[in-house]
Amino acid sequence: AMPATPQPRANVGQIPAYVPGKPPTPRPGLTTFKLSSNENPYPPLPGVLTAATRAAEQMNRYPDMGNSALYDALAARLGVPVEDLAAATGSVALIYQLLGAFCDPGDEVVYAWRSFEAYPIAAAVAGATSVRVPVLADGRHDLPAMAAAVTDRTKVVLVCTPNNPTGPAVTQAELDAFIAAVPSHVVVVVDEAYLEFVRMDDPVDGLATYRDHHNVVLTRTFSKAYGLAGFRVGYAVAQAPLAAALRAVSLPFGVSSVAQAAAVASLEAEDALLERVEALVAERARVVAGLREAGWNVPEPQGNFVWFELGDRTLDFAAAADELGIVVRPFAGEGARVSIGEVQANDRLLELARSFEAR
Ligand code: PMP
Repeated sequence: AMPATPQPRANVGQIPAYVPGKPPTPRPGLTTFKLSSNENPYPPLPGVLTAATRAAEQMNRYPDMGNSALYDALAARLGVPVEDLAAATGSVALIYQLLGAFCDPGDEVVYAWRSFEAYPIAAAVAGATSVRVPVLADGRHDLPAMAAAVTDRTKVVLVCTPNNPTGPAVTQAELDAFIAAVPSHVVVVVDEAYLEFVRMDDPVDGLATYRDHHNVVLTRTFSKAYGLAGFRVGYAVAQAPLAAALRAVSLPFGVSSVAQAAAVASLEAEDALLERVEALVAERARVVAGLREAGWNVPEPQGNFVWFELGDRTLDFAAAADELGIVVRPFAGEGARVSIGEVQANDRLLELARSFEAR
């Protein structure tokens, strides 16, 4: 018999919830800091804010559905054809679009775990089956094991580099070996949300990689290094047929006019923004040195965050952080991720790490 009420697709009830980073608990007399969402702690640059405000004056009009100013600016900046670009409401939307465009129900999506918590959600939304390959003890992707996990049902492999939340990034040599080991009909997503924070030997050259491989998609965002998390704009770079598939399944008018204008202005103001990234990278180095001095063995962070593997102590650590006026991102039973923030916020983290370890 027909059900009496509308029924979502069978697996919809099993889609895991996305747990966003919490705001800090207000503490009278204490400045509090949000270190739970890997946001950029800097306020908007005046020029970017002005561009967004100007765009807001046209809020009664739809945005440019073709994102043409943004594509032109990205194409010029990256040295890629506009046909190779797809913009969306955050890079997370591009991951949803990609899985939706390439997976039939029952197809497999391989990714490292723990990694970005939207991956299992996006896979479930697409009706696909998640295949999780544990990260190594040092938080790095186990790329040989991920390649070995590919089956006839695999349509997409997600490589998160730097990996949220554990921190390390893959090298170009590792990525090359991985791509060579994966059949060329499988899409390899290189999630470069934290690209601008990478400082390592043999870093991934995403643009060179996608030019060489018709199955590679780079996903990037204005949310982190460029500080536009609240406006929701990200983009993918892939060879034209793949980029066209991503655009075909996009939400009409998804990227708002304010977001498009702010993204273009951010590319124009890139020097100033990358100076801020440099300061955050320096803070990251200071934090890591302090943590190691205090006896913590944190994985090599290449994003704007550090990972504490805490097991059973995770929620105690998060509560102790909250007491100090910083809110971190706990993954109960596993560990806590802490964003690099303002100097004072990072000082608090070091204070916490010293006192917590001493218990
Ligand atoms: N990829 C990774 C690895 C992330 O950590 C995030 C943000 N937390 C995203 C993608 C999505 O970012 P956005 O949708 O804001 O572009």
